[in-house]
Amino acid sequence: MGSQPEADGLPSEEDLKLYGLQQKYTEEAAKRFRPDGIDQFVELKDAELERFRTLGEDPWADHAALNAKQTVKDGARYKFLVLGAGYGGLLFAVHLIEAGVASGPDDIRIVDTAGGFGGTWYWNRYPGLHCDVESYTYMPLLEETGYMPKSKYAPGHELREHADRIATKWGLHDKAVFRASVKKTAWNESAKLWDVEIEQGRGPGQEPADLRVQTQYVLIASGVLSSPQVPKIPGLETFAGPLFHTARWDYSVSGGKPEDLSLTGLQGKRVGFLGTGATAIQAVPHLARWAKEVYVFQRTPSSVTWRGQRPTDPQEWETKIASKKGWQMERMLNFNAYLTNSPRQGEENMVGDGWTEIPAYCALLGCPDWDIVEPTPEKIGAHVARLYKLDVAATEAKRARVDQIVKDAETAGKMKAWYPTWCKRPTFSDEYLQTFNLPHVHLVDTDGKGVSSATERGLVVAGKEYPLDILILGTGYRTPAVGNGSPARRTGIQVYGRGGNSLDDKWQNHGAATLHGVCSNGFPNLFFMGSTQTASAANFVLALEVHTRHVAHMIAEAERKVAGRNDGSRAVVEVTSEAEEAWTVEIMRRAAWFASVMGCTPGYITSEGQRTQVPQDPMEMMKASRAGAWSQGMENFIGLLEEWKKDGSLKGLEITPVA
Ligand code: FAD
Ligand code: NDP
Repeated sequence: MGSQPEADGLPSEEDLKLYGLQQKYTEEAAKRFRPDGIDQFVELKDAELERFRTLGEDPWADHAALNAKQTVKDGARYKFLVLGAGYGGLLFAVHLIEAGVASGPDDIRIVDTAGGFGGTWYWNRYPGLHCDVESYTYMPLLEETGYMPKSKYAPGHELREHADRIATKWGLHDKAVFRASVKKTAWNESAKLWDVEIEQGRGPGQEPADLRVQTQYVLIASGVLSSPQVPKIPGLETFAGPLFHTARWDYSVSGGKPEDLSLTGLQGKRVGFLGTGATAIQAVPHLARWAKEVYVFQRTPSSVTWRGQRPTDPQEWETKIASKKGWQMERMLNFNAYLTNSPRQGEENMVGDGWTEIPAYCALLGCPDWDIVEPTPEKIGAHVARLYKLDVAATEAKRARVDQIVKDAETAGKMKAWYPTWCKRPTFSDEYLQTFNLPHVHLVDTDGKGVSSATERGLVVAGKEYPLDILILGTGYRTPAVGNGSPARRTGIQVYGRGGNSLDDKWQNHGAATLHGVCSNGFPNLFFMGSTQTASAANFVLALEVHTRHVAHMIAEAERKVAGRNDGSRAVVEVTSEAEEAWTVEIMRRAAWFASVMGCTPGYITSEGQRTQVPQDPMEMMKASRAGAWSQGMENFIGLLEEWKKDGSLKGLEITPVA
């Protein structure tokens, strides 16, 4: 596995250990591969069964207050339409305002299916919800808003309130259109504007209203984990007790509320929790405090390391953390350096948490100091071996931690994660593993097979029925890689560009094509964010910051050029096909970096194992490599964008003035 062989030519002891580990990982992954891949799930919003479809409805909207407000006019024209009112949509709006291109009252409209701001933090309100990266780096615009998070990892309600704080500071409340889903957007060639179709809900039992607006720019900030899904478990719909998904927590069943986690509704009840991902790790300890019995159904264990939650010390905040201008980006990049295996020598580890102990996460995020991996079997093999080697200490420490905490040896054995760090979102908790020492908390491990069926009484695993009073689905979200990563498919909308061509068709037939991951030829004045053809970050807000600033810069510069004509023209901004192909080639050159996911256990990162199967058809193989990412990490990508900006010519973008 890449280290020096012994003098006799035999593999070293370290190599043999790594071979053994890799073999164990492969065996465990093999248990979990399913031919149906992502089709083992149905998105709640698309479920045929009403019981599941209604689980996706908004439990939080204040319909009366929203019905009393009219923030969008049917037939109106706006300059910017931002799709999504999460941190991404807010950052788009803020940076457009700050860049001076959105100023008048009719310049921006933000449209969201949700009933308020927050995106992820609007929808998710389950007990225990916190950001998993440090709030000082995760909560956007802390410098600009002057807000000090109350603790190192902020709870969900504080994260949602922060979205409202941003909206208030930049005057966005009257610009938001809630309970409104964008259905379709089409480029109107004669008007040189986007025609947008929106369906706005009015509350239970009321007919939705259809709205049509025109807009110069469309900016898609629809998130990556925003469509909750349910597994197609035979009989699940027959379960007689209350059933809900963690993304729409039902406090009328559990009792309590997000700010007061007295889950009195669980008292005396047998509660089943399906799933052991990042959501389970946060929610299960709270269930255990109130329920009579808790059954946690596990297909694959999460890797769980220490958290170290603590209140923010106001003195440390003032004198150290937030003491100078530009501190938040500096802290974000300092954190990012640990995750891309590139901390600078002698520099302080500012965040200093469990995340910063997993350098092999660079398998997903890239690394600035490692070369581009040539796509030969030898080079790929050496690269993957190097990553496994980098990962082994962290994964072994996590498995040892399970033995230290979980008292029952058999349960401990089942809770160890046998896959490399980069295959699933790592988790952090000082409570989750400890919960399984309680006599009323039961791990129902399915040895990678999943729950076999459900009855009106409960769930069935390997022929044994587990009777339950309440069943909670912590079964995650549709993978963002759906449709080759097409922003339209991910958002559940139809996008038609020049000549009526569909964005989904373009990406399905030819593969992804963008400049810097934010715009595509044939779709003028349309910008989006995602993880395709761009750099990712473990702190998602770093990626949102970088992308929204970049797009605001592109638009501001294009507008500036057109304004110079002094004839009242509007700008039409479009990446040329040559420029997007050149960028795509850069991405393809880097595709081999991500070969290490081939050894992953299934999950949303690999589209439930589909991305780990090498396509046999050369065309499909090429499409897969076009949907790759930047292999040298976010900081390196920022450097590249800075160079692009410095050049000043908006290289690759065509700016056309229109009257
Ligand atoms: P979102 O917050 O997902 O917002 C997108 C919005 O677009 C949603 O409100 C959705 O309703 C709306 N939308 C989508 N389609 C349409 C449409 N057709 N019409 C109208 N509206 C539409 N990342 C981290 O870095 N750290 C964390 O700790 C972390 N925790 C997370 C916890 C959970 C439970 C989940 C699910 C994700 C978490 N993430 C975390 C990832 C998280 O999604 C991002 O950090 C970030 O919040 C994404 O912001 P966004 O605005 O891009 O997307
Ligand atoms: P995940 O997709 O991570 O987990 C879903 C769980 O459901 C998995 O354990 C999966 O098992 C299990 N599952 C699915 N189908 C079955 C079945 N038929 N039988 C048994 N088990 C089944 O979803 P989460 O909501 O936990 O997390 C999604 C992402 O959201 C995270 O990765 C993270 O990025 C983000 N997040 C972040 C949080 C934070 O800490 N701030 C908290 C929550 C989420 P298997 O693994 O085998 O597929």
